[in-house]
Amino acid sequence: MTRLRPAIARMKGYVPGFQPQDGARYIKINTNENPYPPSPRVIAAIQAAVGDELRKYPDARSCGIREAAGRLYGFDPEWIIAANGSDEVINNLIRAFVGEGEELGYVHPSYSYYGTLAQVQGATVRTFGLTADFRIADFPARYEGRLFFLVNPNAPLGFLFPTDYVAEIADRCAGTLVVDEAYVDFTDSDSLALVKDKPNVVVTRTFSKSYSLAGMRLGLGIARPEVIAALDKIRDHYNLDRLAQAAGQAALEDQEYFRACIAKVCATRECFSAGLGDLGYQVVPSHGNYVFAAPPDRDGARVYRALVERRILTRHFSDPLLAHGLRISIGTDDEMAAVLAALREIG
Ligand code: PMP
Repeated sequence: MTRLRPAIARMKGYVPGFQPQDGARYIKINTNENPYPPSPRVIAAIQAAVGDELRKYPDARSCGIREAAGRLYGFDPEWIIAANGSDEVINNLIRAFVGEGEELGYVHPSYSYYGTLAQVQGATVRTFGLTADFRIADFPARYEGRLFFLVNPNAPLGFLFPTDYVAEIADRCAGTLVVDEAYVDFTDSDSLALVKDKPNVVVTRTFSKSYSLAGMRLGLGIARPEVIAALDKIRDHYNLDRLAQAAGQAALEDQEYFRACIAKVCATRECFSAGLGDLGYQVVPSHGNYVFAAPPDRDGARVYRALVERRILTRHFSDPLLAHGLRISIGTDDEMAAVLAALREIG
């Protein structure tokens, strides 16, 4: 391949979670999707958007979503960007803030896609481990990287950094702190107030988990207007199609349905976590729609394979910090009862 950039030739590329083509034959609890369907109002909005209007380009600014999110979160729409998944916001933040040869940082373990995007950008990466009580190990008094990513609640472990700790990390960042709140709707605190209070905090959100819209690809960035203006220059000018825009706005406007789904997932999570504890699993108390748990023999791969044989798909990471356990997304009560029964059998 003539003149392919060496950085691209060298890199491996991100491997997303397995999406089986015959998904209906599995209990699919491997990529933190929501077991409940999107709001009926979302389906109706998508159906209403299917028609003759599709021959025209969509609203380039996705104003409907920006305004709905602004009303919901208490921000002017200039503080909000809508994107093709929160992955798009993350990608464009890196492109906007981190030049070739410059550094970005993140907590390990968290979302390894940051590292992949850094490789594409030719940026250097510095990762920080965790202490036993889930704080960032050896975080400097002043971190000089251009961007620092904090997934809160943490994925894949599920613990939550308290807001005052996030604020402290923001103060220690010379550059910008991105709080990736992909799972924040499943807990009861967030960092939106920090976006207003501190000049260097950006929050990202996704519709993939709490709004049951992973298949639509919808995300948000919430940041100061000057950051949003920069991200607007970088994104594809028609980044969200008409169906996604209709879906995103309708989802944000049906908070009643949203809250009911969240309540069900959180109740199932607590019940499932207790069941795992009864089986002798070590469970990290989770604030997300997943649980990280380790079997008594700390052989996550063994349990993963035994579950696949029973057509139950979870996520096992080969990373040495995570190989002892499994990340299990929260499905319906019936699904999780079947998982517990399978785990009991597997031993
Ligand atoms: N951040 C984290 C921590 C995630 O787990 C994910 C989902 N894989 C994303 C961001 C990306 O989500 P989206 O579907 O909105 O691109």
